[in-house]
Amino acid sequence: KTLPFFSRGKVVRGFGRGSKELGIPTANFPDSVVERLPADISTGVYFGWASVGAGEVHKMVMSIGWNPFYKNTKKSMEVHLIHKFKEDFYGKVLNVLILGYIRPERSFNSLESLVTAIHSDIEEAKRRLDSHECRKLRDDFFIPTTD
Ligand code: ADP
Ligand code: MG
Repeated sequence: KTLPFFSRGKVVRGFGRGSKELGIPTANFPDSVVERLPADISTGVYFGWASVGAGEVHKMVMSIGWNPFYKNTKKSMEVHLIHKFKEDFYGKVLNVLILGYIRPERSFNSLESLVTAIHSDIEEAKRRLDSHECRKLRDDFFIPTTD
């Protein structure tokens, strides 16, 4: 079994596809981090825990997809932390603990239906992460901080 899977790396700039304008910013990992994903992790939407540097641990949803920049031959990893940050954190180390799978990657007819789907992914992630099992995994993987 591949999950849980822990990964970390510096946040890089993405395509600026307007995720932030939609209220759903996604922090992108560099190729070197994506290449270390287990080969049997399929594309789709996942949930888990994430922290920026030694900061607080937050719920997250993550999309693993085919990267159009590489003509869909390479994967990409984009993480939306379910938290309102005061500032961007490009260049900082993002830690992610991937715990479970929500749904396969798919295309949408409209931006509106994409946003609706992501909002329902976020709700599902929040709910599943409240389980005793997920909370325990968070406490096992992340070193407690005081902030
Ligand atoms: P890009 O195309 O550069 O990834 P986005 O519009 O997807 O641009 O915004 C992502 C950036 O927004 C992240 O790299 C991070 O610095 C910042 N950010 C702020 N809040 C969040 C959040 N809750 N989750 C993810 N990234 C966030
Ligand atoms: Mg992004």
